[in-house]
Amino acid sequence: MISVFGSANMDLVAYVDKAPALGETVTGRAFRTIPGGKGANQAIAAARAGAEVIFVGAVGDDAFGPAMRATLEEAGVDVSHLRAIPGPSGIAHIVVDDRGGNSIIVVPGANGTIEGPTEAEAAAIGRTDAVLLQLELPMEAVVAAAVSAGGAEVVLTPAPARPLPAELLDAVDLIVPNEHEAAAITGRRDPAEALAALLERVPEAVITLGAEGALYGARGAEPVRVPAFAVEAVDTTAAGDTFVGALAVARGEGRPPAEALRFASAAAALSVQREGASTSMPARESIDAFLAAREAR
Ligand code: AMP
Repeated sequence: MISVFGSANMDLVAYVDKAPALGETVTGRAFRTIPGGKGANQAIAAARAGAEVIFVGAVGDDAFGPAMRATLEEAGVDVSHLRAIPGPSGIAHIVVDDRGGNSIIVVPGANGTIEGPTEAEAAAIGRTDAVLLQLELPMEAVVAAAVSAGGAEVVLTPAPARPLPAELLDAVDLIVPNEHEAAAITGRRDPAEALAALLERVPEAVITLGAEGALYGARGAEPVRVPAFAVEAVDTTAAGDTFVGALAVARGEGRPPAEALRFASAAAALSVQREGASTSMPARESIDAFLAAREAR
């Protein structure tokens, strides 16, 4: 079983040919509201990839709150620890251009009110195999969840990039930055060097490299490089969250690192071929079928 302690945002997504520069106005091709937020994304990705998942977080009392709760529930995520608090839900204002690139503004709303897990929430997290954390909640809340995780393995996605307190890193078992976050944390641009620097602080690390794949390392072991699957990317929103959710599921099933990374890469490759966040995460059958098809080639 997997728990996620993190953000739920309503994604307000505008699709444009070219993103506007400061002071410029452009006409978009389409607009959609799609439930997202790194926490909810990882919860949905893990549930679709085949795990039992608990989501611990908060939504507001606006129209977005019930919509996000419903989306998590539909994906099979346990929302009995999802708080509903007065005030606005978190939102992410996203611009997707015609090459699938995106730029994002996050306004935390309800997410910003979380100071840490309650006793009941910490107990629920402690009963799971792994807790997935990201940095869209206040840092004090993330630290509190990490240090109170009990028997749950702590998996941190350090995004959006922020300085990481030593107390947090001390409690992390696996860190999964993308290459930019890895460079920001370690000061090393080269992924192999960044990986080595990360492993001085945490026992295991994966650096995701977009279309270049991912690099995994554990202390005392040879790094494992897994290429990305060649696919036509239309929207890379939540590729990293899909990767982490699926990776946690594969690890929970006891798969060795290279196989777990391949499973996560397949889930992410499927997600970049679809638009949106919660709308883009593949079901277990799709991941298994994709992997079987690629192996048959
Ligand atoms: P990122 O967060 O961009 O580093 O992406 C996370 C993971 O998603 C990568 O490690 C890849 O497995 C997958 N991914 C991202 N972009 C692409 C792409 N254009 N094609 C295939 N897979 C991708």
